[in-house]
Amino acid sequence: MNINTNYDNLEQSYLFSTIAKRVNDYIAKNPDKKVIRLGIGDVTLPLCKTVTDALHKAVDEMGVQSTFRGYGPEQGYDFLREAVQGYYKKHNVDIELDEIFISDGAKSDLGNILDLFAKDNVVLVPDPVYPVYVDTNIMAGREVKFIDANGENEFLPLPDKSVKADIIYICSPNNPTGAVYNKAQLKEWVDYALSNKAIILFDSAYECFISDENLPRSIYEIEGAKDCAIEFCSLSKTAGFTGTRCGYTIVPKNLGKLNKMWVRRQTTKFNGVPYIVQRGAEAVFTDEGQKEIKVNIAYYKENAKTISDTLNECGIWHVGGKHSPYIWLKCPNDMKSWEFFDYLLNNAQIVGTPGSGFGKNGEGYFRLTSFGSKENTVEAMERFKRLFK
Ligand code: PLP
Repeated sequence: MNINTNYDNLEQSYLFSTIAKRVNDYIAKNPDKKVIRLGIGDVTLPLCKTVTDALHKAVDEMGVQSTFRGYGPEQGYDFLREAVQGYYKKHNVDIELDEIFISDGAKSDLGNILDLFAKDNVVLVPDPVYPVYVDTNIMAGREVKFIDANGENEFLPLPDKSVKADIIYICSPNNPTGAVYNKAQLKEWVDYALSNKAIILFDSAYECFISDENLPRSIYEIEGAKDCAIEFCSLSKTAGFTGTRCGYTIVPKNLGKLNKMWVRRQTTKFNGVPYIVQRGAEAVFTDEGQKEIKVNIAYYKENAKTISDTLNECGIWHVGGKHSPYIWLKCPNDMKSWEFFDYLLNNAQIVGTPGSGFGKNGEGYFRLTSFGSKENTVEAMERFKRLFK
């Protein structure tokens, strides 16, 4: 047999292991110091009650002959697809049921969707970005071109008409920068994709953090997007499902064969999300569920505001933090990303994520997240002010 040598082309990702090692070394040498972690990319608040009630009920159903379920539909149960459809409708987007595919989270579908595309497509990915987009394409042996996100364009790059691309990744609100495209900017991307006969893979995993009604939560709020975009969303950050696992992908029927091909792919390689989890996910979309998850999101957003206000007080340039759990800041005094990481750890016992770990344009930047506790976030920002105000 021959192995897939494309794996040799992947850059080894040492980011989070290097962070863990540096933090552990610091703690070993300074056991009396309280280290605060603002680098967390995972939620910390528990599932809300409406969801856990629905999960318990579904578990009980599975233990009774008359309500037991075996294999479910690969595309998801209609009760959940209808709930997702209703959620889009609230934002004035009409999606048909057979365009909605329930998944075990956005990450797997973002990787799996590449089964539908030929190898010779040119892929366009913003830099810096969520590393999964690049790595999944490298594994498949595809050429990846980068588009620069930087301070000048406030980390919201727009299409360069001289560049030809077939598959375009857009993540808004963005990980790692927290930057969000407005409708006019997304329209530029949709027009570019339509004129190139390209496809946009739109990652809206953080849409629930958007609180300005004028900002698009779905690419389908933009005219023409159903003719050129697939959307990936997740309950991970919306409702604390990072460990429970559920998301959804929209493949419009306007995209020609792609909808049928995705059905074929999923029915061949995927056997659906557990019934119990889908009942929990359905509960997220009830009025009570929406009320409860909004309390959790508001908690994280309050933390983000605390961080953003502190950076403003210190005169430190940053984006994100308003419609996103991420705050992306320019390292003070022109420090490099890792230099700032060490400085912050040694002088304030705060842990964040060096921006250079998300792409070359991340050098000199740093990501803080709002997923910690309120008390720790406030304390960390007091320490921050002592250093930089
Ligand atoms: N997309 C982005 C931009 C993310 O940051 C993440 C997780 O951090 C995911 C997708 C993955 O989400 P899921 O937990 O649904 O696989």
